[in-house]
Amino acid sequence: MADNPVAAQCDCGAVAGPLGVCVDYYHAILSEEQADPQMYRWHAPVVCAYLLQHPARAHEKYLDGQFRQLQLYVDKGLDALLRVAAHQVARNKHGVRSGYDMAPLAAYEPLPPAGPPRHFRATFSGLPFRDGSFVSDGHLAYGHRIEAIAQATVESWRSIQA
Ligand SMILES: [Zn+2]
Repeated sequence: MADNPVAAQCDCGAVAGPLGVCVDYYHAILSEEQADPQMYRWHAPVVCAYLLQHPARAHEKYLDGQFRQLQLYVDKGLDALLRVAAHQVARNKHGVRSGYDMAPLAAYEPLPPAGPPRHFRATFSGLPFRDGSFVSDGHLAYGHRIEAIAQATVESWRSIQA
């Protein structure tokens, strides 16, 4: 971590918040959602958006699928994404080893070969963290903020395609 978090900038271009840069927020979210099943519903968009905003920390071969999952989420909402995710889990349990079933995601744009974008208009280090929690004002408000980050992520990646 940076010595001076106040002045620190994340590699996604975001300015650090009180908890630090995005990775600090990401770990705090993963920790809090483990004890909160309702908050955990947004786990998939959180992971996809975080990795797409910080692709140096991701496995390159999964990024395209994660970009498509995030587009599905922005397009059709959390329930649609959770259905696809549940289908993936069931499929993996049956020993299919080819990774993502791309069928529900095939309609979405592939990850642009250029990138990553240098700026996202909503970032993890910009999330409010009050009273030691990301959901102190309710899960719906939290969900809207995750959706805004997902939208910003898709928007910035799409903008570098041209
Ligand atoms: Zn960041």
